[in-house]
Amino acid sequence: MEKKDYLIRAMLGANQARVIALRTTGVVQEAQKVHGTTPVATAALGRTLTMGLVLGAMLKAEETLTIQIKGEGPLGGIVVVANSRGQVKGYVGNPEVDLPLNAAGKLAVGEAVGPGYLHVIRDMGLKEPYHGTVPLQNGEIGEDFAYYFAVSEQTPSAVMVGVLVGVDGVPLGSGGIVVQLMPDAMDDDLFISSLEERLQGMTQVSSLFAGDRSPEEIVSDVFSGLELRYLDRQEVQFHCDCSRERFERGLVALGREELQEMAAKGEPVEVICHFCNRQYAFSVDDLDKLLQELGNTRA
Ligand SMILES: [Zn+2]
Repeated sequence: MEKKDYLIRAMLGANQARVIALRTTGVVQEAQKVHGTTPVATAALGRTLTMGLVLGAMLKAEETLTIQIKGEGPLGGIVVVANSRGQVKGYVGNPEVDLPLNAAGKLAVGEAVGPGYLHVIRDMGLKEPYHGTVPLQNGEIGEDFAYYFAVSEQTPSAVMVGVLVGVDGVPLGSGGIVVQLMPDAMDDDLFISSLEERLQGMTQVSSLFAGDRSPEEIVSDVFSGLELRYLDRQEVQFHCDCSRERFERGLVALGREELQEMAAKGEPVEVICHFCNRQYAFSVDDLDKLLQELGNTRA
């Protein structure tokens, strides 16, 4: 039974709303494995990774996107980076945060995140990056992004995003559905009320994606009775693009003095990628080589 992670795009009604729906169970399982997150940290990171992929699907080809959730709660913030090719990576400040379930009997994501701000930075290559910031609504991620879409992009949106974590801490299901009203539909009360009706009657999104049904089946079920037109689909995955070369450049960027100091200690330097926990070791010889290169480029 293979349940691939992928994202679909569709239009509702007479092109009155656009829908992005995606299964991210595998993405979040990978993130949980890489970071060893507790259930509440898995849910917070998983929801944000899912939203990273949603925003990534709205980017142009070569653009990338960084989401920073800076909350005052014990989770210590969330960073997610996504691109338009369905790749996402991310981490949380404190993967070991452990909190009792909230009053509703759910993972206390809002409490773990705490009050703060949601930042979205869109890197458009040569142009100035776009930076949008909104205050967190409740730290539960879904409503925070709905507010972001409304304020920063003037797009009324419904955001359903969720992660179901099993008793052993392994994610059983994860996914999201985002519905955005097109400008023409904003006065169409009949369409809006029929849309709201369906969203209110919806099962928890995390349970929907924990089952065997495809994103297409889930979407056509949630919006049954409304005209639905599928546009495209894209595979999504947790992927870190870090490399030894990239960390070499990072070391070089520290400058000659700092590198010399490191080499003078006579011990290898280990750097760890925050996003995927891969380790890169640089021997004293490696550092000397980098110093030589630095010398050459300056000469
Ligand atoms: Zn990495």
